[in-house]
Amino acid sequence: MPDSTNRDKGLLIVYTGDGKGKTTAALGMVIRAIGYGWKVCIIQFIKGSWKYGELDGIKRLSPNVELNVMGEGFVGIIDDNKSFEEHRNAAKKALETSIEKMLSGLYELVILDELNVAVNLGLITQDELEELILRKPERLHLVITGRNARKWLIENADLVTEMKEIKHPFRKGILAQKGIDF
Ligand code: ATP
Ligand code: MG
Repeated sequence: MPDSTNRDKGLLIVYTGDGKGKTTAALGMVIRAIGYGWKVCIIQFIKGSWKYGELDGIKRLSPNVELNVMGEGFVGIIDDNKSFEEHRNAAKKALETSIEKMLSGLYELVILDELNVAVNLGLITQDELEELILRKPERLHLVITGRNARKWLIENADLVTEMKEIKHPFRKGILAQKGIDF
């Protein structure tokens, strides 16, 4: 039942699934948030997962939106010359920054982009994920994106949307498009 006393409740929101639109959905929330003059903090867990379009676009929303590029690039991909330990340390730093930003009281909305991927790669443990969520301030809206969200996270979230791939141009051999994919 809707309850008007819940109006200021900060939500835990998860965008997951194999279809396109998880980060895009989070960015859509940023637009709505800054319409109210809110401050937003985005923490990117996998460095290199954001392209010039969104990086430059977000810069234009400064100082309402702060972007923290963390992580040590893609893990296990061809040009990955970092050790697991280095990736793990970078993810740990991103996690610490996330907690610090969440608890700072400066933001109404915090977005942890690709955190699910960092968890799946074993860079963030289940315990660390749980601790992070447990420390979310009551009024803060927290958005977590990335494929294969953990069952625990889904159970504990208030809003979960699964992007399901019906069609993606990549399947027809159409390469990533400027302004759409990067
Ligand atoms: P977007 O950033 O476009 O909202 P996303 O956050 O849902 O995508 P990610 O898993 O973060 O998806 O992947 C990022 C990149 O991979 C984007 O350039 C996106 O276009 C592309 N991508 C997303 N889903 C698919 C898919 N099903 N097939 C091929 N490429 C995809
Ligand atoms: Mg994404």
